Amino acid sequence: MSHRYETRLSHMGRPGSRVHGFVNPPVHRGSTVLFPDCAARRAAAARRFDQYMTYGTQGGPTHYALEDAIAEIEGGSRTVILGTGLAAVAVALLAYLKAGDHCLMPDSVYGPARNLANTLLAGWGVETTFYDPCVDEAGMAALIRPNTRVVYTESPGSHTFEVQDIPAIARAAHARGAKVLMDNTWGIHHFQPFRHGVDVSIQALTKYVGGHSDILLGSITVREEEDWRAVRGAATLLGQYASPDDVWLALRGLRTMAVRMKHQEAAGMAIAEWLLAQPQVKLVLHPALPCHPQHALWKRDFTGACSLFGVVFQPRYSIEDVQRGIDAMTLFGIGASWGGFESLILPTTGHITRTAGTGDYGGPMARLHIGLEDVEDLKADLARGLAAMG
Ligand SMILES: *Cc1c(COP(=O)(O)O)cnc(C)c1O
Repeated sequence: MSHRYETRLSHMGRPGSRVHGFVNPPVHRGSTVLFPDCAARRAAAARRFDQYMTYGTQGGPTHYALEDAIAEIEGGSRTVILGTGLAAVAVALLAYLKAGDHCLMPDSVYGPARNLANTLLAGWGVETTFYDPCVDEAGMAALIRPNTRVVYTESPGSHTFEVQDIPAIARAAHARGAKVLMDNTWGIHHFQPFRHGVDVSIQALTKYVGGHSDILLGSITVREEEDWRAVRGAATLLGQYASPDDVWLALRGLRTMAVRMKHQEAAGMAIAEWLLAQPQVKLVLHPALPCHPQHALWKRDFTGACSLFGVVFQPRYSIEDVQRGIDAMTLFGIGASWGGFESLILPTTGHITRTAGTGDYGGPMARLHIGLEDVEDLKADLARGLAAMG
């Protein structure tokens, strides 16, 4: 494994000689798996936590190729593929939480994860406390209760991009017997969760791995056998499965992820810096900008940035002004999700919920995703939008 990451991206998860020398794995569809005799079936069932098929829901060769690749990208040992990123969030939480448990979630958590905690998990007797994502080790230690089973993290946070001190949070959690789960979607390719104390890493493969805005997929990656049994077991119990056609598209997307992300990182930085110099803009929430409040943490723990960041407009503008500006733009699409080849902008004020007093930057906000278009064309489109804000 001495090759560099970009080289490995071209080779990981390939079945090689097992498919007669074709470069890519087949799209392997299947529900029933046949066995030569009853003993063989019993033996397979006894090895259900291994990469060994007994039924289609456990995936097939196409899934295994993507599982192996994601495990390698994340620096873990085993990965389970789920139908969406949100399914990965849900299965990971359900794998560890039961009635009477306490869960900690950052105030900047992905909105649907907050909704899950406040509805299904709450209804099943799991209490969730939303904490300041910028908590330090002592602060996290003080939040953990005897029944805290899961410390959930997401860094940077959704929409407001706070970078968390994951190693400090993990030390506090592990000292008190809690598991550290992380939504590492922003940091794919740039953050090695297991080197920083994470036990369970969640990805929305929908984003940069898919890369073309045409599939939904998620993954959960672990390093330890006990965590593999927890998450693989929960995925099986909950009947989770992903289409091999989508898995195959994710494998295709993966091969170009490094070059896409290199371009998008540079383009995102260029546009973030340009926005910072515009009079309509108060703040740019991009961890790779030196003015970002947790820039030092990002620099310490990440090897780069993706092209998703936030912008805070001057407080003299209303959210209606921002919406008018966005409507005047022609290149940026207005839509959720991100990580595709096309640029997106989304007004976020009024769409985000915070309950721990964080995330107010004193002006209306929007989230930008920078795609593969020409940077000067994108700047011109943003200039059009800024001018229309009045
Ligand atoms: C998009 C996203 C998800 C959910 O992924 P889907 O595949 O769209 O369900 C989870 N976490 C984060 C941070 C995301 O941005």
